[in-house]
Amino acid sequence: MIKFLDLQKINAQYAIELRQAANEVIDSGWFLQGERLSRFENDLANYIGVKHAIGVANGLDALRLILKAYIEMGVMQEGDEVIVPANTYIASILAITDNRLKPVLVEPDINTYNLDISLVQKHITPRTRAIMVVHLYGQICWGEELESVAQRYNLKIIEDNAQAIGAVYQPSYPEPSESDIKRSGSLGNAAGFSFYPGKNLGALGDSGAVTTNDDELAHLVRAIANYGSTKKYVNDYQGLNSRLDEIQAAFLGIKLKYLDAENQRRREIAQYYCENISNSKILLPYPANQKSEIRNQKSHVWHLFIIRTANRDKLQQYLAEHGVQTLIHYPIPPHKQLAYKHWNGITLPVTEKIHG
Ligand SMILES: *Cc1c(COP(=O)(O)O)cnc(C)c1O
Repeated sequence: MIKFLDLQKINAQYAIELRQAANEVIDSGWFLQGERLSRFENDLANYIGVKHAIGVANGLDALRLILKAYIEMGVMQEGDEVIVPANTYIASILAITDNRLKPVLVEPDINTYNLDISLVQKHITPRTRAIMVVHLYGQICWGEELESVAQRYNLKIIEDNAQAIGAVYQPSYPEPSESDIKRSGSLGNAAGFSFYPGKNLGALGDSGAVTTNDDELAHLVRAIANYGSTKKYVNDYQGLNSRLDEIQAAFLGIKLKYLDAENQRRREIAQYYCENISNSKILLPYPANQKSEIRNQKSHVWHLFIIRTANRDKLQQYLAEHGVQTLIHYPIPPHKQLAYKHWNGITLPVTEKIHG
């Protein structure tokens, strides 16, 4: 059987290094807030191209903490609005409502499945404070139009980079300078990462990170993630306990070295699928019409290879019978979840088409 995701096989490649790292952590007797975390935070900040990376407990917390820090800074307050794609994984939205902020659901582009940037402006109100972009399925969601709208209305842009670590944004204008070519996680004002085992950079358990160039935000996220404390037993903020363990930091430091190679392998596989799946009933993912270029398109790291088809359940069953496991990402959109009952009556046709 071809598994949807074989975590055993993925991690077996690095087993010797991972075991050695685990032994070192066990022998050190130091499990939190140590040198392995600092080293990984440094490596991650350098890799992404930002001043600060802060390890936290998971991806949801990374996003929650960014918003909490902005509230602490006075950038936003309870009841303010955050624009978010309606078809995201629910964690993006949970981070917003957990902070008593109001998610404003905006439809995605039916081709890319990413936030339709052209719809953002008409959802802006006097209470809008931020746009949360989600680089869904591994594909960067960014554009000059997004930057200019955010600038015009003085909005923060928060990247949910849980699915796209390693992706590179290249502006569409001709001959961009070296400094305009950036990794996801360095494009907005702050970014949340998830190292859930199934993500492109997966820990052997839960963990996440926040990246930013904003010194004050970085200071606050770090403090709030550690009981609101910068000095032991001195608490400046009402914080949480959301830290990245030494053992996970050690594992992630090892796996980060191989991330670019893993992402390139994903591109090769995506290219193979696009070149070899030829069926009028199957809609291939967006860049498939530029077949030969997938391998070189750094703006996509293929966290998932998403197809659409009218006979989804039948196709899934057929593939299962032939030893190919597939999953639906995602079967129920956030606004149809019981967790958000007050949204259950609204209609978001594009989102429902994708999820439906
Ligand atoms: C995985 C994911 C998260 C949450 O990350 P966890 O580490 O599972 O908390 C947030 N947003 C998106 C888009 C994700 O895919």
